Amino acid sequence: NRIETSVRKELATMQSYSPGKPIWELQKEYGIEEVIKLSSNENALGASPAAKDAIAQYVASIHRYPDAHTSLLRDAISSVYDVERDNIIIGNGADEIIKLISETFLTSGDEVIVPTPSFSEYDFGANLMGATVVKVPLTETFEYDLTAVKKAITEKTKLIYLCSPNNPTGTYITREALETFLEDLPTNVLVVLDGAYAQYADANDFTDGIDLIGNKQPVIVIQTFSKVYGLAGLRVGFGIASNEIIQYLHKVREPFNVNSLAQAAAVAALEDEEHLNASKQLVVEGRKELYQAFEQLGLSYTESMANFVFVNVGVDATDVYEKLLRKGIIVRNGSVWNLLTHLRVTIGTPEENLRFIKALGECL
Ligand code: PMP
Repeated sequence: NRIETSVRKELATMQSYSPGKPIWELQKEYGIEEVIKLSSNENALGASPAAKDAIAQYVASIHRYPDAHTSLLRDAISSVYDVERDNIIIGNGADEIIKLISETFLTSGDEVIVPTPSFSEYDFGANLMGATVVKVPLTETFEYDLTAVKKAITEKTKLIYLCSPNNPTGTYITREALETFLEDLPTNVLVVLDGAYAQYADANDFTDGIDLIGNKQPVIVIQTFSKVYGLAGLRVGFGIASNEIIQYLHKVREPFNVNSLAQAAAVAALEDEEHLNASKQLVVEGRKELYQAFEQLGLSYTESMANFVFVNVGVDATDVYEKLLRKGIIVRNGSVWNLLTHLRVTIGTPEENLRFIKALGECL
């Protein structure tokens, strides 16, 4: 087989990404019209109306290439997050930022430390470049063990991923723990702080880490418009880091990586504080509802700072996952992370949460 011998050797053992089931598939497979999707941590309120208006306005210009410098969007992020625009890079989703970081910093033989369980794209980026993923387990209660992370560092370590709040557990790293961790790391190690869910974290001791980027230890903060900003379908994410790191990432990214509708919508979404606050409030209340329901069902769960909750259903999660599918409810099966009695459930609208809770009770 000629192709097999000519593709890069890293690809031989790599798996393609398999996302959660889409709504249409369930509608087709089970003939259910009213499917609810609580599997991808999207915003249950949908996109900001202002973002939809911005898209409608920009449709007239889609024959033009988008702004390769994403100037207006970087300006908007710069003022909302209080960082210089030269410290910001926009990606086609945070996924692209992760890939760019991998392509920029990793070569074959490097090591990447990934606390586990966490977001699968970190492994993907490392594997793609032929780097080795060094997994460091979270504690039994899914807290970060930063001492163990530090111990895993070797001369080959290039990147350390810290996802806070963490997907799929919803646990987070306190400001104090993060600052202590960063104090005496080798300065050639880049710490990637993934804050895809940072806007939902309402604990006083949480930090999104953005104010740490100028310090001695190189840090890049990743954020996304797919979650609280409600634009998952448009694919916009961003990285915040020192000017030097950002300049290297720009060398690797494609010139027109973020389409014009996405850029316009993201600016509008950033400025729509009303929608943003409503989206956060929905999650704060929804988390409480789910906690209460889990307690009534006698299930243990992990307190979450994100828009999802990781619950231990106490029995085979795949069985429960499939029964829920048959009732038109899509959640994430913990088997993705080798946690065979867990499900990750995105906070939905109050009606969706109720439907899920009722169905879960029937599936156990
Ligand atoms: N980081 C984390 C922790 C995520 O959960 C996700 C989305 N599932 C991403 C990054 C990627 O987000 P995006 O949609 O912007 O690519």
